[in-house]
Amino acid sequence: MTTAPVVVIDHPLVQHKLTMLRRKDTNSAHFRAICGEISQLLAYEVTRDLPLAHEEIETPLAKMRAPVMKDVELVLISILRAGNGLVDGMLKLLPMARVGHIGLYRDPKTLVAVEYYFKVPSDMPRRDAIIVDPMLATGHSSVAAVERVRETKPRSIKFLCLLAAPEGVRHFQKHCPEVPVYTAAIDEFLNEKKYIVPGLGDAGDRMFGTQ
Ligand code: URA
Repeated sequence: MTTAPVVVIDHPLVQHKLTMLRRKDTNSAHFRAICGEISQLLAYEVTRDLPLAHEEIETPLAKMRAPVMKDVELVLISILRAGNGLVDGMLKLLPMARVGHIGLYRDPKTLVAVEYYFKVPSDMPRRDAIIVDPMLATGHSSVAAVERVRETKPRSIKFLCLLAAPEGVRHFQKHCPEVPVYTAAIDEFLNEKKYIVPGLGDAGDRMFGTQ
């Protein structure tokens, strides 16, 4: 099987906003606001290949066959809790999307991702799923989320994050070769506490002011 691509979204607006998120003196309110903005730009890129149908419409001047998004059934799946900070913004651009949530914590001894919450729409087989987590660090929770979502048999799965670590990308591609990854940047490495370096710190803490 060929491995799905990792798409780095290098648009200048995305890169500028990512830098604002990285700055350690960006406070939580500002961090959340920028997440809201950048997530709309990410949503724009991650939906670039959605199919268009054509419909007969009338403008004030003429009839025409015009492109419309038809039969597009999306589900955005937030990995709790930091995924919520991106999904909210994405919904502004994709109000028709449904939303699922998956809660995972890392067992401190085994480092295995353990699920504590899972709720998705009942009609997953007709939906294209976009799993959302700001950080693809070790890749363990991302892989666990994909494996759980796969069980619901969506039409397709994509993974969207703000930042990825090379180690995480390798782990993810090994276990989820069919799932394309969309990210604003691939950083240098994971430190001993499994934080992405240079990164932006703990995305959830920075979003919700819990550090
Ligand atoms: N999760 C975060 O929030 N930040 C990291 O750097 C790694 C994982």
